Order: sequence, then structure tokens, then C-alpha cells
Amino acid sequence: MAARRASSPLDERSLYAEYPFLPGAETLLGGESVSVRALLEEAAYATARSLGRTRIRAAADDPRGTRDLEELARADPEVRFLSFLFARIVLSAAPQPAPLRRWAVAEAKRGYGRMAEAPPDELGEIARRLGHALVLAAEGVAVPLVDYVQLATPIREAEFRLARQEVREGTVRVGRLRAARLLQEAVRRRLAQPVPLTDEVVARVRTQEAELFDELAQRMPLPVARPGGGMSPIRPDRFPPCIRRMQRTLQHGENLSHAGRFCLAAFLHRAGADAETIVDAYRGAPDFDESITRYQVEHITQRDGGRGYEPPECGTLRSHGLCARDGDPDAAAPADRARDPLCFDEHLRHPLQYYRLRGGTVLDRGDADEGPASAPAGSTGTPGGPGRARSTARR
Ligand code: SF4
Repeated sequence: MAARRASSPLDERSLYAEYPFLPGAETLLGGESVSVRALLEEAAYATARSLGRTRIRAAADDPRGTRDLEELARADPEVRFLSFLFARIVLSAAPQPAPLRRWAVAEAKRGYGRMAEAPPDELGEIARRLGHALVLAAEGVAVPLVDYVQLATPIREAEFRLARQEVREGTVRVGRLRAARLLQEAVRRRLAQPVPLTDEVVARVRTQEAELFDELAQRMPLPVARPGGGMSPIRPDRFPPCIRRMQRTLQHGENLSHAGRFCLAAFLHRAGADAETIVDAYRGAPDFDESITRYQVEHITQRDGGRGYEPPECGTLRSHGLCARDGDPDAAAPADRARDPLCFDEHLRHPLQYYRLRGGTVLDRGDADEGPASAPAGSTGTPGGPGRARSTARR
């Protein structure tokens, strides 16, 4: 997290050093034109490269961006900017998209740490440079409705929902911290997009930073199902389209809704996955936090003597936009893009039923005989209907 600073306005040079994601930050380099090749190779930029790798590792370990980077605080503004640029180039060339998205979250959160303490004028200036017309008013910040909807939609906290906001004359009134949180989202989006690179640069980065990419793969492993309970192997290839799409979403470092996260954990548990496998499935999430994920997985899977919550039925998943039976046009594999006929069977009611019909084994992991547990009210919005989901899953 950034160090606290006095609330005096920043000059242009310091502004770009603190917020290297702002358009125009490259002017920090003055008349000096640093080529991508030079930044990647020349000895003069070794410190910037080293600091850039530190930024990348810090994000992989802590996407909340709370870890202090003392080296960053000590570095010259130009070196800080170049380290940011180097990290962005390297991650844009990474073989997997998840590290870039994780880094985008961490850098945006680091930016939030500063924006939350910034004087109002500075906050307004950052917003303007990011293309959002936030207006500082006596009683807070006025955010144009269109901007608010665009920035707040991916934010999962309930207090950001539009229905809970005060809308006046086409603007949403928010406090300074919420304005900073909205700008954090604007930064995350900007940084989550890879910068365009030539094939030659991508190849050069992948060769030069192979060790770093290997390290990231170790720190952020892709979800791999493992046999659970010694009873039967898990068959990810037999998972229904909805579950496969949820896995891909997380593998690609994209956000998955609360309902989707709940469903995936509950499904994997009933398909026989152990806790490690389930936690692994979330490692690609842009806001992955190991301790919180373990806590939530435990909560979902340990209910009722280990039976866990029941995954939602197909109808519930459809109402949440999580059903993928029509095929996923964004998927790479033809099988994932195609419509799945089994999902249109009039008797199919539940993802576990699909898995069972395709030859997978569904475990009843608890001792209790009564109906399945329901999801906690308000936690996901996808409660399993008592008794119904379980009975249909066994068809
Ligand atoms: S029909 Fe059911 S099992 Fe098939 S994709 Fe939709 S929610 Fe999943």
C-alpha cells in the first residue's frame, strides 16, 4: 500500500509517478525515447526491470495490493514509471491472461490507496484524465449516471448497486471514498487490457522472462481436478457446460458472480473434489485471496456433516445468466461453443444430474438424511430448493 503523504497538490511529474496508469504518463521520460527493446534489454534499465518483476510478484501473491513495496517508494519517479511499463509489457506477452488481470487489480488497488487520501482537486484531475467527468460538490462527488453504471456494475459490494444510490439531475452522489473506489475500477479495466505488441516482442519477452512465467504458473496454478475421498475420479470432461464456462471464466482471470462462485464450489464438492482442488479453481480470479477463499470453501462444503450446500438447479442458474446450454461463443474449443443437446432434455433439472448422466459420480458426502442445505440468505442469491435439487440430481 502506498505511504501516506501530505495533502498538497502534486506537480505533473509526481502525479504521473504516483499514477503511472494515467494517459500521458510517458511524458515523465521527457525528450528521452525509451524503446521497448531498450527497456527489455539494456543495462541502463536493469533496476526498472527488477522493480517491474517485483510489482508482478507482489500482485501474484497479494492481489489486494496491500503489500508495501519499499523499493517502489524509494525509486525515482522515472524508474517507477519504467518499472510499471516493463511489468505491463511483460504481462501483455504472458502465455496466460490471468497474471495480467491479477496485476491490474493489485495496481488499481494500490492506486486506490493513494486516491482515497488525495485532495479533492487531485481526485477530480485523475478522473478527468481517465475520461470520467466527476464533479466535486459541497456534499460529495457527483458522478454522471452513465459513468456510474459503467464503473459500478462490476463491483460486487451491495452498497454500490444503483438501486441504493441517490440519483439527482442525472448524477449519482457519492462520498470521496466511493468516488476513489469507482476510479479504482476504471484503472483496473484500463490495465486489464494487454498493450499491443509485435510477435517479435512477445517471443522475446517469453524467452527472456521464462523463469518469471514459470514462477507465476506455480503461484497461480490453473484449476486441476484431483480425485477426492478415494472413491472415484473426477471427470472434468463430463462437467456440464455451465460449470465448464465458470471454470474458464476464472482461468482467464475474469470475474465470476457470487452465484457462479457458490455454484462452482458446491458442484465440485459433490463431484468429489477435495478442498485443495476447489480452492485451486479460484486462483485465477482477479480478486483471489487464499484465506478468504479457504474460509468460503469450507463454509460451503462442511455444512450438514460434510454434505455441503447443494448447487443450484438449472432454472436458478438460467435466471442468473449462468446456464451455457446454447454454447459459449467465446470459447476456444468447438465442443464448448456448440449447443449441448443433453441440456435440452425435458427431464434435465440439475447440473449434477447432467454429470451423472454423462458417467460422472456424484457423492453424497454427509450423514444427514434430510433434504439438502440451502444457500445462506443473501450470500449468493441461489439457494438450493430443500429436497428438490438433491432428488433431481439422483435421477
Ligand atoms: S441446462 Fe443445466 S446443466 Fe445444462 S448448462 Fe444449463 S444450467 Fe448447466
